Amino acid sequence: MTRPPVALTIAGSDSGGGAGIQADLKTFLGCHVHGMSAITAVTAQSSTGVAGIHELPASDVAEQIDVVVADIGVDATKTGMLANADIINAVADAAARLSLGPFVIDPVCASQHGDPLLRPEAITALIETLFPLADLVTPNLGEVRVLTGLVVDSLDGMRAAAQALHDLGPRWVLVKGGHLDGADAIDVLYDGTDFIELSAKRRETPHTHGTGDTLAAATTAALARGADMVTAVRAGKAYVTAAVDDSFALGKGLGPVGHFWRVRPDETSS
Ligand code: PLP
Repeated sequence: MTRPPVALTIAGSDSGGGAGIQADLKTFLGCHVHGMSAITAVTAQSSTGVAGIHELPASDVAEQIDVVVADIGVDATKTGMLANADIINAVADAAARLSLGPFVIDPVCASQHGDPLLRPEAITALIETLFPLADLVTPNLGEVRVLTGLVVDSLDGMRAAAQALHDLGPRWVLVKGGHLDGADAIDVLYDGTDFIELSAKRRETPHTHGTGDTLAAATTAALARGADMVTAVRAGKAYVTAAVDDSFALGKGLGPVGHFWRVRPDETSS
């Protein structure tokens, strides 16, 4: 096999395997990209929520990035849970120093259960040091509220939020409307000039743990394969829509989106 495209995720570990680093690496595989990881924090997490968080020293996060970029190289990079301002500053420093390829920021603030995954005092660092380096930022409506103060309940509101976020420096913004009511889940992609709406049939299921990570990871994988931004985001949306269709109950709480639809069953298994 020739060298596949290579993507790097800088994010937290979810011990339940549904979100975070684990979701990113499954998605990278599903998108035929070699996945590498720089772990920012280890969460003790199940389908019922986050029980504990161990944040790694920022220098350890930087070292994970430095060694893989120096040896292997990276075609595209995404960030997920960054935990605190020291880690954000270390990641911003790495992104400015190194060649990380197209840079996608999923501005993870909390889990679907409401457990905080980013310290509140780190939000300013996220906006001021990381957003100007981003090719794409992918907030959901809860994150839009934390980042801009805007309370969004309509498509017009999503467009206004995309403009406000674009003013903070990223080249593209994807505002995800999955939490709005309606038959379709509509996202708004904005590059400072044009708004593009991406729509998919809403699937009524509580088992959507890892949705945001999976969308950002699939988009990053497409960028690593050389796609332009609109094509990459469409590919990311198609992947996550299929993964939500493939979601399943697991544990006593919210189950994960599925990646099995991308994996051929082992012919030796019954
Ligand atoms: N845990 C970790 C480590 C994550 O990175 C994320 C999302 O990025 C989550 C949990 C939250 O996932 P969800 O919002 O799907 O519950």
